[in-house]
Amino acid sequence: METIRTGVYICHCGVNISATVDVKAVAAFAEGLPSVVIARDYLYMCSDPGQELIKSDIKDLGLNRVVVASCSPRMHEPTFRNACADAGLNPYCFEMANIREQCAWVHHKGATEKAKALVASAVAKAALLEPLERKKVSVVPRALVIGGGVTGIYAALEIADKGFETYLVEKDPSIGGHMAQLDKTFPTLDCSACILTPKMVEVARHKNIQLLTYSEVKEVNGYIGNYNVKIRKKPRYVDEVKCTGCGECANACRLHGIILNEFDVGLSKRAARYVPFPQAVPLLYTVDPDRCIYITKGKCGKSPACVDACPADAIDFDQKEEELEVEVGTIVVATGYDLLDPAKRPEYGYKYTEVLTGLEFERLSVASGPTGGKIIINGKEPKEVVFISCVGSRERKGITNYELRITNSNLDNQTSKMDGGARNEYCSRVCCMYIAKQAHLVRDKIPDARVRIIYNDMRAYGKGFEEFYNRVVAEGVEYIRKELEDEVEVIKRSEDDDKVVVRTISGGIELEADLVVLANALVPRKDADELAKILKITKSGDGFYLEAHPKLRPLDTFTDGIFIAGCCQSPKDIPDSVAQAVGAAIRASIPLMRGEVEVEPLVAIINENICVGCGTCEVSCPFDALSLEAGVMRVNEVVCKGCGSCGSACPSGAISMRHFKDEQIYAQIEAMCLQKL
Ligand code: FAD
Ligand code: SF4
Ligand code: SF4
Repeated sequence: METIRTGVYICHCGVNISATVDVKAVAAFAEGLPSVVIARDYLYMCSDPGQELIKSDIKDLGLNRVVVASCSPRMHEPTFRNACADAGLNPYCFEMANIREQCAWVHHKGATEKAKALVASAVAKAALLEPLERKKVSVVPRALVIGGGVTGIYAALEIADKGFETYLVEKDPSIGGHMAQLDKTFPTLDCSACILTPKMVEVARHKNIQLLTYSEVKEVNGYIGNYNVKIRKKPRYVDEVKCTGCGECANACRLHGIILNEFDVGLSKRAARYVPFPQAVPLLYTVDPDRCIYITKGKCGKSPACVDACPADAIDFDQKEEELEVEVGTIVVATGYDLLDPAKRPEYGYKYTEVLTGLEFERLSVASGPTGGKIIINGKEPKEVVFISCVGSRERKGITNYELRITNSNLDNQTSKMDGGARNEYCSRVCCMYIAKQAHLVRDKIPDARVRIIYNDMRAYGKGFEEFYNRVVAEGVEYIRKELEDEVEVIKRSEDDDKVVVRTISGGIELEADLVVLANALVPRKDADELAKILKITKSGDGFYLEAHPKLRPLDTFTDGIFIAGCCQSPKDIPDSVAQAVGAAIRASIPLMRGEVEVEPLVAIINENICVGCGTCEVSCPFDALSLEAGVMRVNEVVCKGCGSCGSACPSGAISMRHFKDEQIYAQIEAMCLQKL
């Protein structure tokens, strides 16, 4: 039988621990514990000299168990495991006691006694630890990027440039995302399409990128290195090889100029056959299946006008939906954002034609837009323009004054915030700057316009932002600050008036305007939940996808091999989206380059003699790691995260967790209970 020889190391963490915990007393206490051969304290155990202490003791004193009492294992468990491995000890013969977060930072009194109890508990568990081996799994050298906005475009190019085959899946008919809809971009005022479209073309031409537009990911199975992905490719009802993008079908379509164009946010009209915008990639005329007369009614005139008009004989109403199945090693999610429906905040008067959203303003201002870049409202140039910031962002919990008034007076049957959607406490981050940009564009195009911005705080945090803000102020844009709690409402004095009034509830601000632009919040996509379930990734409280660690793993998810970037993680501007895209692409490329990944052995194990195959655990597993084979449950050790849900669900007690076995936990509890706290 193995004689257990344990080394215990108590860390001061500078003064983080030692200011509250008497580390020398804890070390002296540890020396008296069963199996402990050596107990030391040191200023920073994670430092090189700290790790050297462990390594040399393993070699010189023949230690076969190591316990470090320091910070949270989340940060430094890998550091100490690696130190053990470097000295020839199996890294799973290591145990950690958290005497910083669980002691020093939360107690004034009794911290030393609690630290002793935690150390005793870790030593007791360490004695029962078993050496474990990490498994290696091979990696399919291909990647999938979901979402073809600027983030997805950059992520796909970055992975493909490294030589890996990359699928880029975009649900709309063209890649480009929101950036393709913008006019100029802050703070440099580059033309958005001019800087984006070359990258879109590069994606289409890249030999390593397979572009799947008008497609959606329907199912993802597997694990890091070996994901099996099912993709639904919707029919465009046009032969992708024959279509030249000439647009004759759209011109001939019986619904030409009738359907609201989503790309122009409803400010222009299109046909049932359309491309979202002239530089669309790919440039293929797609049928809107919900509107096309031939598809919805089975007949369109004697023969569909688009069929007759197409010089390339490309129209194909027999096209069917396709399902593709691809194998990839890693996945980058770049599905971006939605914009808050301003009708959900009726106080801002979006029902009036004089009130636009920020995105509608972009389409109105851009030269390729429906008005050729002329800012026209009610048939004329607006001379008084008011921008309102934080519409649906930085909201406080509780009922607003506006809601109280509406509810009490019952004057208005519009949807109020109470039933109009959850409050968004977060800052949408891009609005302060895009309002400044749009204010500049108004002054540029209508020099005699009076432009005022009602704002709460000016957040000009990025490179060149403060300078841009100063420039806009110098150009004559007036900033009017209000308190965050002082709510704004937009009203009309009479319905046939072509002006609106912007006022605050406090009465401090009252402005007439020909045009009001609302900086409505960036919100999680309405289908974010659906994709999260397919990918088994989590969302944060605000509804955006959650990163594994806000500071140290901002691009990882809790599902190995799946990364997030851009606005699907939280609102951000283009430079930050691109930076994240490149970062996520590099993270996703590492396993592809290595060709194999190591997986943690801390997983569920099933005692086949006890398992009755009832299937209770299978439904409790959030990662689909369990499956019934020949009447007995099996664990896919690569997929299992060792979360323990199955172990607690199993009515037969057939499941235990490696490294967290019942006897190990009981030993910890017993050792702890023996200490006087
Ligand atoms: P998106 O642009 O939203 O792209 C996401 C893409 O993923 C879309 O193509 C979408 O169709 C696709 N997708 C979504 N779900 C799926 C799915 N399940 N499967 C497949 N595809 C999917 N930033 C600046 O830096 N400068 C500016 O001047 C500026 N002006 C702005 C003005 C306004 C009015 C607004 C609202 C934002 C502005 N921004 C600006 C911010 C900018 O829009 C974002 O930073 C940028 O668009 C983020 O790109 P993204 O790719 O992450 O998301
Ligand atoms: Fe338009 Fe008719 Fe062709 Fe449909 S079938 S795209 S409605 S012309
Ligand atoms: Fe699934 Fe968690 Fe059990 Fe592993 S430990 S099989 S991840 S429930």
